[in-house]
Amino acid sequence: MAPTKQRELDLKDFPPGTVTEFTTLVCLACIFDIFTKQLGLAPRTAFSEIKRHTPTTDELTSRSATRPYFDSDEKHPHCPYCGSAKRWLARFDTYCIEGGKPTDAARRALIKKLPRAGDQFVLVEKKSDSRAVLFEWLDTLGLNLDLADESWLLDATRNYLARRAPKTNWQEIFEQLRAVRRSNRLTEGWEQDGARLFLAPNIYGEAILIQYLVSRSHTHGGLTLDGRLTLMELIRRLRYIGYLDRIGITEREPGEVFEKLIDHLAASRDWSRVSAVSSGAKGLSTGSASDRSIRGNKASKKTSKKASKKSSKSKAAQPEPDEVITEPVKLYYIIDRRDFLERTKSVYASYA
Ligand SMILES: [Zn+2]
Repeated sequence: MAPTKQRELDLKDFPPGTVTEFTTLVCLACIFDIFTKQLGLAPRTAFSEIKRHTPTTDELTSRSATRPYFDSDEKHPHCPYCGSAKRWLARFDTYCIEGGKPTDAARRALIKKLPRAGDQFVLVEKKSDSRAVLFEWLDTLGLNLDLADESWLLDATRNYLARRAPKTNWQEIFEQLRAVRRSNRLTEGWEQDGARLFLAPNIYGEAILIQYLVSRSHTHGGLTLDGRLTLMELIRRLRYIGYLDRIGITEREPGEVFEKLIDHLAASRDWSRVSAVSSGAKGLSTGSASDRSIRGNKASKKTSKKASKKSSKSKAAQPEPDEVITEPVKLYYIIDRRDFLERTKSVYASYA
């Protein structure tokens, strides 16, 4: 296999967190089998069809790949469907770029540089909406947290706060923290006191809502900083701390309250940067369910230099306006087919 290093696209001009990379393996033995046995094509025709094949973005980015696609972390992977070894396996690298002002120029420049002959790269544009984007974010966050270790509650809170106030260096703040609490004193913002971080009730409310959404199951509710909560208990808690009043939810029926909560959460923050987890923290790449690498957030490491020195008790932060972002989000996928084309060619050469 060609050295993967050289194959990676240069993403340094993109702001941190605006590009997510997915890697999916495809088994050429399986795909050949599908084209000849299931579709009944002659071998030669099958190979020329396979060369033209590009998986859908869903196939390339879904968490549960199906034959002939699969995910693997192994250095010498084998096809889980037919056992074929490395020379039968090809990879697709997919880069998902969040559309918008911060990325438009870099995206155009990148696309201009890509070799287009023979469909080495395929471009796909997709529209998304804020709700879908929020769930994608939650999904990615959940996959990158180790829910068996309760420190994930802090990681989830940090990721949420990074959405709420992206300019604050949360990585650095959380390195010193042991607990996050609801403040009885603050009405806005947050305050760090040594190893404890106090959040204003509305921010705390959103943090436990995120934790609930990441960890919920049908029977046991979700785990939060306030313990394990069912949906009813979560709603009661959010009502008690004034969060429901604050965002204008007057409904009583839990299902309706839940829908309103999701709509508010989806519309009031920018969740559109698909990679939810900031780099640097250990244990965030457990990858047990997926080997999809999350990139585009490397630059977050660099930002630590910019942070000013903090005293052990920092001032309460400025209130964050509840700005509402409702525009649909456009996602640009760049699919790198180079490895797939080369593998197909060499497999065909050995077959013919
Ligand atoms: Zn196979």
